[in-house]
Amino acid sequence: MRNVIIIGSGPAGYTAAIYAARANLNPLLLASSVEAGGELMNTTEVENYPGFPEGIQGPELMSKFQEQAERFGTEIILDDVTEVSLGGEVKTIKTGYSGDFEASSVIVATGSAYRKLGLADEERLSGRGISWCATCDGFFFKEKTIAVVGGGDSAMEEATFLTRFASKVYVIHRKDTLRASKIMQDRAFANDKIEFVWNSEVVGISGENAVNGVTLRNTVDGTESHLELGGLFIAIGNDPRTHLFHGQLELTSDGTIAVDGRSSRTNLPGVFAAGDVIDPNYRQAITAAASGTVAALDAEHYLASLEQEAHHNPEIASAVAASV
Ligand SMILES: Cc1cc2nc3c(=O)[nH]c(=O)nc-3n(C[C@H](O)[C@H](O)[C@H](O)COP(=O)(O)OP(=O)(O)OC[C@H]3O[C@@H](n4cnc5c(N)ncnc54)[C@H](O)[C@@H]3O)c2cc1C
Repeated sequence: MRNVIIIGSGPAGYTAAIYAARANLNPLLLASSVEAGGELMNTTEVENYPGFPEGIQGPELMSKFQEQAERFGTEIILDDVTEVSLGGEVKTIKTGYSGDFEASSVIVATGSAYRKLGLADEERLSGRGISWCATCDGFFFKEKTIAVVGGGDSAMEEATFLTRFASKVYVIHRKDTLRASKIMQDRAFANDKIEFVWNSEVVGISGENAVNGVTLRNTVDGTESHLELGGLFIAIGNDPRTHLFHGQLELTSDGTIAVDGRSSRTNLPGVFAAGDVIDPNYRQAITAAASGTVAALDAEHYLASLEQEAHHNPEIASAVAASV
């Protein structure tokens, strides 16, 4: 049986691994078979991660995270977790092809996924003018004409924030009214640089090496038009990756895993959660990494308390002794 299993290999998972490994807990990190490295594998330049004053490519940053976790003895398996049983003292984790694992504690760091438009050129132009994060990428769009797709609070927030950089920001929305709260709408309506494109959906994205425009379809009369752009921000929602844990871990109304205050403690003893999967607001690499630290420290304290209990209870003692 393992001391701790970490599910997920983004900034939260790897940082939890670094701390757990340096605490001699011999963590096992299940990194996913196709998406190892997490969301930053989908981006190019990362300019806001401290310690890299010249910026660093997302995949390179994640390979450094991995190297650091491995340096202290983290075992990494590139496989997907397919089922979990987290109640009770022994947690069971099933994977796609590497078999089942048992652990005294589990750290869930499965992140969240930005919703995509589902268009052919979206993947190809991701990081080349298409972005899902104004905080991350707004700086690259100085004096450009750009658009934000969406009609909720986050679309209004992104659009308003992006006017600090862009010369003009279109907000493209499928309907003629917004879902966003009144205060966010008012702020966007009052901003001279924002122009709304109502009743319109993006049906095509153009550009050879970088976005240069979008094709819009009018949702009322079906007519199509072209809008020239230097960038496209997609703000149509974000889904925390929690499906494995439904029925076991409590979720918040935002769909994130519920944790106790500023800790990483979930509703189940010995199960901790970190990173974007618990965070409806900030969703940055540095906040995810910090949250991974919290989870590793919480897991360490939990394991220490189990050991203490074991001194007084011989049955627990044998379970703890079996931990690697
Ligand atoms: C295009 C883009 C650009 C960005 N740019 C920046 C930036 O410049 N600066 C910044 O600070 N932030 C940026 N972000 C945000 C940042 O990437 C995230 O906040 C951060 O990666 C969250 O870390 P995380 O570890 O919580 O989750 P993630 O990075 O999402 O990692 C979660 C991991 O869990 C794995 N996983 C999920 N389910 C399973 C399973 N069942 N079994 C095994 N593994 C599983 C996933 O495959 C993934 O590896 C960007 C995000 C995107 C999408």
